[in-house]
Amino acid sequence: MVRPANDSPLEVSCPQCAKRVPWLPESTYRPFCSKRCQLLDLGAWADESHRISGESAMDEADIETLLAQADKDAPLS
Ligand SMILES: [Zn+2]
Repeated sequence: MVRPANDSPLEVSCPQCAKRVPWLPESTYRPFCSKRCQLLDLGAWADESHRISGESAMDEADIETLLAQADKDAPLS
């Protein structure tokens, strides 16, 4: 098998904690050092995009619309 070149070890920095991660098939979570860092990064992204796209005024209007529809669609019996 081909061995990695000695002069350029293939490593990346974990985007979460900056730990050096070898870029190898067995580094399952590359470029992250661990599943924990991967999840933290994904969580940060999801949280950010939610804040950017989720205008609170729209959200409240949507919720009230849904609640109004639910009242009409499912009358109490
Ligand atoms: Zn990490």
